[in-house]
Amino acid sequence: MVAHADQPLYLLFLGAPGAGKGTQTAMLSSALDIPRISSGDLFREHIRNQTDLGREAKLYIDKGELVPDAVTVGMVMRRLGEADCARGAILDGFPRTIPQAEALEAGLAARGQAIRTVIDLVVDHDILVERLSGRWMCRSCGASYHLAFHPPAVAGRCDVCGGELYQREDDSPATVTHRLEVYYRQTAPLQEFYRGRGILHQIDGEQPIEAVYEVVLNAAGMGEDADSTG
Ligand code: ADP
Ligand code: AMP
Repeated sequence: MVAHADQPLYLLFLGAPGAGKGTQTAMLSSALDIPRISSGDLFREHIRNQTDLGREAKLYIDKGELVPDAVTVGMVMRRLGEADCARGAILDGFPRTIPQAEALEAGLAARGQAIRTVIDLVVDHDILVERLSGRWMCRSCGASYHLAFHPPAVAGRCDVCGGELYQREDDSPATVTHRLEVYYRQTAPLQEFYRGRGILHQIDGEQPIEAVYEVVLNAAGMGEDADSTG
């Protein structure tokens, strides 16, 4: 199934924890006026609301493990079926395994739809660790900040919504190391999966945020130089 220009626009972001997916997808979501769907944010919302799904997910998230595919796929596909996704969605952090990618592909194909573009933000391991150790996130809207690389205008407050900033428990050094191992083992194989489908764009995610965004726009077909398939 090939995505057509008159169909809903599905963009998907790969990349390790800390690669900048949340930062870039938030900017792109405002520019395109298409919702950003972060599986991590959906899980954190379930945990906050103390749902059964949240209680199950927390067991895995606290250890830096992936939440089982069946739970994750069900949650994201339900979200994609909501009315605000009629024009498409920007997926952040989903899929993270080959079975998730297959389920997403099949679910979209059943609706006559397909992913248009996959953007993989490539960042070296040591930089990922540095980014995650200094990350502060907004409790209300999920925006990401960094003490050195992307500080908020007012300490402890979100620039976007004024919400309180906090450090995620799973950004602690021990859990970060494990999350990165899980990424290399279970998620990195998705690069080959999407390269095989001819829709993978690999981007140097080590540049400053605005420079990465320029390249993201091009890869999403919105810039002047749109051909960077990796
Ligand atoms: P992800 O969603 O991929 O886990 P985030 O977007 O939350 O990653 O970014 C991780 C951390 O790195 C945050 O603290 C963010 O402010 C910072 N960051 C994001 N992009 C860049 C960049 N291009 N350069 C430096 N720091 C960045
Ligand atoms: P994130 O906010 O994307 O860093 O995700 C935080 C945590 O939520 C991960 O470490 C996983 O435990 C879980 N998670 C998020 N997305 C997925 C996914 N697609 N599959 C499985 N687990 C996920």
